[in-house]
Amino acid sequence: MDLQITFIGTSASVPTAQRGTSATLISRGGQRWLIDCGEGTQRQLLRSGLGLTDVDAILLTHLHGDHFLGLPGMFKTYGLRKREKSLLLVGPPGLEALLDTLRPVIGRLPFRLDVIEAGPGAVLREDGVEVRAFHTDHGIRSLGYAVVEGDRPGAFDVDAATALGVTPGPDFGVLQRGGEVATAGGVVVRPDQVMGPAREGRTVVFSGDTRPCAGTADAAKGADLLVHEATFTDEDRARAVETRHSTAAEAATLARDAGVRMLALTHISGRVHPRDVKAEARGIFPGAVVPRDFDQVEIPFRERGTPRCVPVQERMGRGEAPATVPDATL
Ligand SMILES: [Zn+2]
Ligand SMILES: [Zn+2]
Repeated sequence: MDLQITFIGTSASVPTAQRGTSATLISRGGQRWLIDCGEGTQRQLLRSGLGLTDVDAILLTHLHGDHFLGLPGMFKTYGLRKREKSLLLVGPPGLEALLDTLRPVIGRLPFRLDVIEAGPGAVLREDGVEVRAFHTDHGIRSLGYAVVEGDRPGAFDVDAATALGVTPGPDFGVLQRGGEVATAGGVVVRPDQVMGPAREGRTVVFSGDTRPCAGTADAAKGADLLVHEATFTDEDRARAVETRHSTAAEAATLARDAGVRMLALTHISGRVHPRDVKAEARGIFPGAVVPRDFDQVEIPFRERGTPRCVPVQERMGRGEAPATVPDATL
């Protein structure tokens, strides 16, 4: 099953000519979840080449404007399109009060909005995957999110099954689903005789805006991808502490210590150059990436390869993103 993370908006606090405010799209099979929804997210989605999909859930990390101001416009558009599918909206406590304030702007919606004010723990469970919230440290109530897939059964060894006398056909399926079968000769074959060890699912973690903190570090242990904010570089460390943000070096240190496979830095301040953010992080976590808007990380199952950041230009070349996207030459 495919798992892709598309960076829809990667700027801190305010949009720049090249970057929109916070939004990241998770695509897994037919599921679409959005982490944060900064101003202009619906247009950014259109420009990303993915289109304004009917996302199934929006997970807000916290209630600063650069993370939620895109909601009213997006809801209005969904309303105009007569969306019928319900939408799950998750965020920290205070979300209901925020929606009460926005209600006169949003108006009536033709679809059901399920709102969860979440604390740490599972906020969403779908086929084979769970999204878990965890506390972060941003000076207001804030959450990070971990997308955690369950283990998959091991690979089925056809040769071993045949050698044990199992007849190809329905009995193969029974064994794959964990059942026992009897061969024509009356021998009972158990799944552990023909199935490899369980294969670990994938994990993707989103820090949201935060100081480096234990919540993120715990959730990110051994993760396939950590998307961590890096609003500042080390030069502005005092400001990072004061505003409860992270520097590139701090995010890279956390990623290294947590043993993540890939680190993507986002929420980049317009006052620092992404090149400097990348260089600082790579001194500690070689291979760290600073995605541009519309770059995409593909995360294959672990036995099939390592996560890879596909630059927007490559997506354009494949016809997956419009040729008009900005920042292609930065
Ligand atoms: Zn922010
Ligand atoms: Zn914030």
